[in-house]
Amino acid sequence: MDFSVVEDDFRLLDNLPVGICVINAAYEIVVWNNCLKTWTKKTIREVGGKTLGQVYPHFLEERYTARIDPILEGGPPAIFSSQLHGRLFPCALPNGKSRILQTTVTHVPKKDGDGFYALFAVTDLTEVSYRIMDYRKVQQKALTELEQRKAVEDELRKANEKILAQHKAVIEEERLKVLLQMAGATAHELNQPLMILLGNIELLEMDLADPEKMLGRIKKISEAGSRISDIIKKIQKVKHVVKKDYTGGEDIIDIHQQERILFVEDDLECYRMVRRMLTFGSQREIHHADTIKAAKVMVKRLSVDLILLDYILPDGDAFDLLEFMKEEHLDIPVVVLTGHGSEITASQLFRKGVSDYLSKARLDRESLLESVEFSLERHNLNRDKEKAMLVMGDLSTKDKLTGLYNRRYFDEAFDRETSGTDRYNTDLALCLIDLDYFKDINDTYGHGVGDQVLKTAAGIILAAVRKYDIACRYGGEEFALILPNTDQDGALTICNRIRENLKDHLFEAGADNFRVTLSAGIAMMSQNASAEQSAPSTMIHQADIALYKAKGQGRDRVILAEIN
Ligand code: GH3
Ligand code: MG
Ligand code: MG
Ligand code: MG
Repeated sequence: MDFSVVEDDFRLLDNLPVGICVINAAYEIVVWNNCLKTWTKKTIREVGGKTLGQVYPHFLEERYTARIDPILEGGPPAIFSSQLHGRLFPCALPNGKSRILQTTVTHVPKKDGDGFYALFAVTDLTEVSYRIMDYRKVQQKALTELEQRKAVEDELRKANEKILAQHKAVIEEERLKVLLQMAGATAHELNQPLMILLGNIELLEMDLADPEKMLGRIKKISEAGSRISDIIKKIQKVKHVVKKDYTGGEDIIDIHQQERILFVEDDLECYRMVRRMLTFGSQREIHHADTIKAAKVMVKRLSVDLILLDYILPDGDAFDLLEFMKEEHLDIPVVVLTGHGSEITASQLFRKGVSDYLSKARLDRESLLESVEFSLERHNLNRDKEKAMLVMGDLSTKDKLTGLYNRRYFDEAFDRETSGTDRYNTDLALCLIDLDYFKDINDTYGHGVGDQVLKTAAGIILAAVRKYDIACRYGGEEFALILPNTDQDGALTICNRIRENLKDHLFEAGADNFRVTLSAGIAMMSQNASAEQSAPSTMIHQADIALYKAKGQGRDRVILAEIN
């Protein structure tokens, strides 16, 4: 074969940055340009005249011949993609990886018109391919991260939902308590007029013959009826929990509630008009201040439910009072009234926490009352919510029945205190207290009475300890006291005081009276305690042994653990 002739025809291709290989119908290589030489490290001398199959045996495979043969007969071009045929012409890179190539094969008619060559144009897609692979990797990573984030967000959402549910439950519980207390208040308040009403109805029959007496009874019945109706009106208006002492036991809600409004206004005419609107059909208690100075004194002195605040006053404006309330931590809803307001002032006021903003020019009774009622209600709701949050905080550290710290809190606190004592080298006492024969109380008087005994015992314990002592309900009828900075005499004194006070308490169950005693064990951690002696578990164990001894020696006593 005359290689040079062919070579001449394709000379132009020699310096292209594309690998070019041309074969004839017999698959013999007739052109192998510079670029391909560089990539494959094979010279034209090595490959020239050989068949493609001799140089690269895979070209003998049918999947290639089936596509190349038609081209040598003038058929349409074929593309060998970089993804599937990236190593059609194997080319190693200096870093050991292979070039990734895309090869297009086209026919080139021979000059003499006698058949076709096949021209392989080989382009290097290594850079692009690696970029695409990198891109895919990054994409994959991003997807994975996205999924992880979604999982975390899911967890968070679930946790939030749980908290919300708990939150709702607590608010619901608080609300139930209020309702129960209201029921108590209602019963208490209604009892007397009801008795009068029923009593007089009973007596009415006896007085049938005496019209004058009968009229007297009817008058009393009607008076009692209207008292009942008044009470019911009051109950319907109870908005928040104001407790009052009730001789029947627990505090009940005071239903004699009047909203107390402080109206800060320098324009007397306006004051009178608004006052009329506010007191219409209801028993609101209105107090008046005509300067910011007077208002400051009154908000601190009176317990005010709501403030109606004129915007401009002789000695300042609404912002001055709001600032003062913030400094004094006074949380009272404020409705601002203004003669000449602007939207900017309104938005500034709202940002300061003002609950509503009314224009004097467009003031009517309906909108004023609506604003006042709404502000009060929202404020009460917020306060209930805050109370519920506090209750929730307590739930995790406090025991529900006794109100003492719970076991979980004890474990944490005791670890903390023992390591603190290590640091500061002061004495620390641990007391374990167990009620004597408590099971008998449950068995004799029932669990309800048992619970009351536990509450009372907890109250006695709380009254005996100091501010920095930690009193916990350790188990069913067991209590634990952590007494920091306390030597053994101090601990003995406190435990014996609790023991005596409990013993002195006379419990009542129906017609029966009974007394309860306790046994206690004390373990000390002294200043020169060894690490083992001061380990929380060692101390608990020692206190437990001492308590067991107290039980064994006849109960109703306090025993100090021996220090080994
Ligand atoms: P001892 O003098 O040996 O301590 O006798 P005990 O009867 O006090 O001791 P025991 O451990 O046999 O019984 C403790 C009882 O406390 C048993 C359990 O039913 C009761 N108990 C535990 N927790 C509560 C509670 O929350 N309420 C009530 N009412 N009883 C409880
Ligand atoms: Mg004014
Ligand atoms: Mg016990
Ligand atoms: Mg017991």
